[in-house]
Formats: sequence, structure tokens, C-alpha cells
Amino acid sequence: MTQKITVIRGDGIGPEIMDATLFVLDQLKTGLEYEDADAGLVALEKHGDLMPAVTLESIARNKVALKSPLTTPVGGGFTSINVSLRRHFDLYANVRPAHTFPNTKSRFENVDLITVRENTEGAYLAEGQEVSADGETAFSGTRITRKGSERIVRYAFELAKSTGRKKVTAVHKANIIKSTSGLFLAVAREVAAQYPDIEFQEMIVDNACMQLVMRPEQFDIIVTTNLFGDIISDLCAGLVGGLGLAPGANIGKDAAIFEAVHGTAPDIAGQGKANPCALLLAAAQMLDHVGQPENAERLRKAIVATLEAKDSLTGDLGGTGNTMGFAKAIASRL
Ligand code: NAD
Repeated sequence: MTQKITVIRGDGIGPEIMDATLFVLDQLKTGLEYEDADAGLVALEKHGDLMPAVTLESIARNKVALKSPLTTPVGGGFTSINVSLRRHFDLYANVRPAHTFPNTKSRFENVDLITVRENTEGAYLAEGQEVSADGETAFSGTRITRKGSERIVRYAFELAKSTGRKKVTAVHKANIIKSTSGLFLAVAREVAAQYPDIEFQEMIVDNACMQLVMRPEQFDIIVTTNLFGDIISDLCAGLVGGLGLAPGANIGKDAAIFEAVHGTAPDIAGQGKANPCALLLAAAQMLDHVGQPENAERLRKAIVATLEAKDSLTGDLGGTGNTMGFAKAIASRL
């Protein structure tokens, strides 16, 4: 049976990078079928809703979605669409690889790590945020659960196992935040004990940041709580040349959504200037997820070869190419 995926073309540069990505996927002959679904501003205009029920139903049915960036209108009481998607499908693992690519503006040459960020609890709670009536004191809570910690650490170890990676580093602040970060670390140790073949390392978050910018090559898989993961995964994107090459996956038990980390880039939308690589790399993560690791590897190698040859690169990478031209150069190397 052919596998269907939900395709969300999104806002701003979204449709351009999605066209480019689907063009390359078609050349790969993945056999995947695409089901288009609207979200973001396009959906608000068409359906009166930023995330229409039909789109949620499509993702629930297909269990896999490839998604371009979306605009959440500022003001008007809209919750971020990405946050609502995460909550709706309980997408607990945010998986962000950071890999050095040739001919990109990056300070390091041998980074190859994956950040696995807990996506549903920690310091990012919607409830319990308070500011005192006089505006002098603010309070926000952090919730860590055994279940939440267990499943994210287990995800990191299973990812290490399935990808042949050797080490998992749990990043925490348990020396100071003894309750929440302490529980996360205690559970991480318990789970790590069940994977004797994979090295387990613990690192306090401040030291982890310093180590990352001094010797990033020592990291393999990093697993951490929501707030630390948010910061560290962006730090890692910076280590390897920024947003144009940073993909991310949001993975839950019943659904997984693959996307570029960057936004809708309204300043260059509709001009063919957008770099499609981040969404293409997200598509490679998706191919791994749907059991097509060979195609994922072919796609990654073609991207590397195109960057090495400096063929048709977009402006953000110092080239003069356009979005579809870059995609065609990649497709020609598959
Ligand atoms: P942005 O990532 O859209 O843009 C930041 C800068 O990076 C801009 O100069 C842009 O031109 C450039 N850039 C981004 N992607 C690029 C690409 N593929 N190729 C070349 N250059 C690229 O961030 P922003 O300006 O803060 O946000 C714009 C909009 O995107 C906002 O409405 C925000 O809510 C939305 N957003 C959506 C998502 C998502 O859906 N996942 C994520 C972040 C931001």
C-alpha cells in the first residue's frame, strides 16, 4: 500500500520551498503520495481558521506531515499554530540535527550532533503564569514528570541505537534546580542503565553551552528538557551555518511533523530567493521515519555534493541561484 503524507505548503516562502522539495522527492521515486492540507494565513482566509479541523484530520489519518513555515498573526489572541499542533498530537520529541556542510559560513568543520528536546512540559507551561497586581513580581512554574522524562530519554537512546550513534549526553541543571531538573536527571540515569552499549554522559547546561562552542565534535546526541533544548538547538544551528540548513522533526506516538526550523521569511517571499535545504533536510528526516533510510541518505549526499560544487546556491549561501534552480542541481546529483 502506498503511504500518504500530509503536505502543508504554508505561508511566505513556504509554497516555494515546498515546490522545490517535492520536485526533489519526486526524482527520488519515494512512492509517497501527497495530500495537500491548508494551515496558517492561507487557511484563515479560506476556512476562517488557522488550523482547520480537516487539516488535523488529515495529519491524524496519515500520521506523517511535511510542513512549511506558517504565520501566526500577531495580536488577536491567536495561539501559535506550531504550539497548538504540538499539543494536539502530543509531539513530545523535537529532534534537530546539526551537521557541518561544505561551503557554508560556519565556524566548525566537524559537527554532527542531534538535539532531542522534550517538547511538552518543563518551563513552557501555558497555565500558571502570573504577574502580581502591582506588576512588581512575576511567577511561572515548571513541571517535569517521570513519564515525560522517561519517554524523551528513551527516544534519544533508541535514536542512538537505530542510527549507530555512540553517546547520549543528558543536559540538566540538577545541582541548583534540584526538584525538576533533579527528577529529569534521575530518570535519565535509570533509562541509560538499560542501554549499556551506548555511552551516557551528564552535563550541566552552562558547561554544555561552553563545551558546544569550544569542542562541538565531542557531542553525538544531546537530550534535555524543553527550555534548555530550545536554546541549545538554536545554538547548534548557529554552529553549522544558521537557519537555512536547519531541519527539525516533532515526533509523537501517533503522528510526526517534519519542518524547516526557519520562519516564513516575508522579506524574500515570492522572489525565488529562498534556500530550500532546511525543508529538504527535514524531508530526509521524514524518509528515515517512514522506513526509507537509503533514500534519506541519497538526498543528504546530493545536498552535500551540490554545496561542495557551489552549484546554483541561493543568496544566503553566497550564490546567485534561485530556489528551484538549487533544487534541480540537487536532484541532478541524487
Ligand atoms: P524567519 O526565519 O522567517 O526569517 C529570519 C531571516 O532569515 C530573514 O532575513 C529571512 O529572509 C531569512 N531566511 C529564513 N529562511 C530562509 C531561507 N530558507 N532561505 C533564505 N533566507 C531565509 O524569522 P522571522 O522573520 O522571525 O519570522 C517571520 C515569520 O515566520 C513570523 O510570522 C513567524 O511567526 C513565522 N515563523 C514560523 C515558524 C514555523 O512555522 N515553524 C518558525 C519561525 C517563525
